[in-house]
Amino acid sequence: MRTIPIIDQRHLKPELANAIASGDPIGQLLDGYDRPLHDLRISVTDRCNFRCTYCMPKEVFNASYSYLPHASLLSFEEITRLARQFVARGVKKIRLTGGEPLLRKHLEVLIEQLAALRTPAGEAVEITLTTNGALLARQARSLKDAGLNRITVSLDGLDDQLFRRINDVDFPVSGVLAGLEAASKAGFSNTKVNMVVKRGCNEQEILPMARYFQGSGTILRLIEYMDVGASNGWCIDEVLPSAEIVKRVHEVMPLVALTPSVPGETAERWGYVGADGQYDPKLGEIGVISSVTNPFCGGCNRARISTEGKLFLCLFATDGHDLRGLMRKPGASTDAQLQAQIVKVWQARTDRYSEMRTAELFTDRISSARRVEMSYIGG
Ligand code: SAM
Ligand code: SF4
Ligand code: SF4
Repeated sequence: MRTIPIIDQRHLKPELANAIASGDPIGQLLDGYDRPLHDLRISVTDRCNFRCTYCMPKEVFNASYSYLPHASLLSFEEITRLARQFVARGVKKIRLTGGEPLLRKHLEVLIEQLAALRTPAGEAVEITLTTNGALLARQARSLKDAGLNRITVSLDGLDDQLFRRINDVDFPVSGVLAGLEAASKAGFSNTKVNMVVKRGCNEQEILPMARYFQGSGTILRLIEYMDVGASNGWCIDEVLPSAEIVKRVHEVMPLVALTPSVPGETAERWGYVGADGQYDPKLGEIGVISSVTNPFCGGCNRARISTEGKLFLCLFATDGHDLRGLMRKPGASTDAQLQAQIVKVWQARTDRYSEMRTAELFTDRISSARRVEMSYIGG
């Protein structure tokens, strides 16, 4: 029986349409600005056990907030099926995020499924996770055993009172540090710690955090506070530019610029200088992520799948492309049809929100379109 594709392939380049139809691996998939599809971020839940004031403020994410019903979430089988199509079209790295991904029951089962995926060249895909660390001490071992490659833990300071106020659920710093220790004991290396720096809030924590993680093998990444979502009441005055962050660290713990480790890397790398005035790998490095003052849209190779299976092309997009619908409707799409949709959407991608926002920062023209929350789309 001949199946009729429901995806309109007329706008695909002919070689891609042929490759998709035959199921053959194709060359690198490029978007409208020649950016390859390389990373896939998957939000596995829109719920969180923290209420970080800049992400899920209690005033909005309270008892009357409507989270997605369980039936709306992609199942592990659906996530893996979608991930397989993305991997067939160029994705080499998958990051699980949320909300808080460790709240999703039996996450290790999903990790096992994703870890079994292979690229068209037969290579394993790098599987990573971003977590607030609260449940990491309990889960680190099973995540490692399931095949998770790397972890990023978010921690916005070492001052316990301040951290409890930021997460707004009174969670102690020691709980996150215990998670980091458990991850290291379970065999995770190259762990990263993400610190969102908000001027006038936790900027005094930059140096204590840099000192704490220097030489520890854990890479501290300092992130400019971004205007994501519609709930955090973002204001440019609360952004501490990365250049200022680097200056503050450099004055006390000298740094030297390092080259990017992979193309499209979001973080600018700075290595600590040893006694000989050169970068000392034993002291390690920090990263700064300048999404506001020095946007990196030009190298942005990330696709995102929301908790309910929409494909988003940008963290700041206002809507996504419904892939779950394609999988669940009667006469559901074949894998080839899902891939055709992914290819079509990626090829048409022209998103570069941060570059445009930064160009417009000092005018009143910043788009007021209602953006989706980071807890839904995944950071
Ligand atoms: N709950 C997990 C966590 O906190 O690591 C994963 C999801 S969280 C949305 C992913 C990352 O986004 C975290 O490192 C968080 O600090 C960061 N983030 C959230 N809101 C942000 C904002 N407005 N600006 C910059 N980073 C933000
Ligand atoms: Fe939760 Fe992460 Fe958002 Fe904090 S940053 S509220 S931990 S999703
Ligand atoms: Fe990528 Fe959008 Fe961020 Fe630019 S603003 S780097 S396109 S996610």
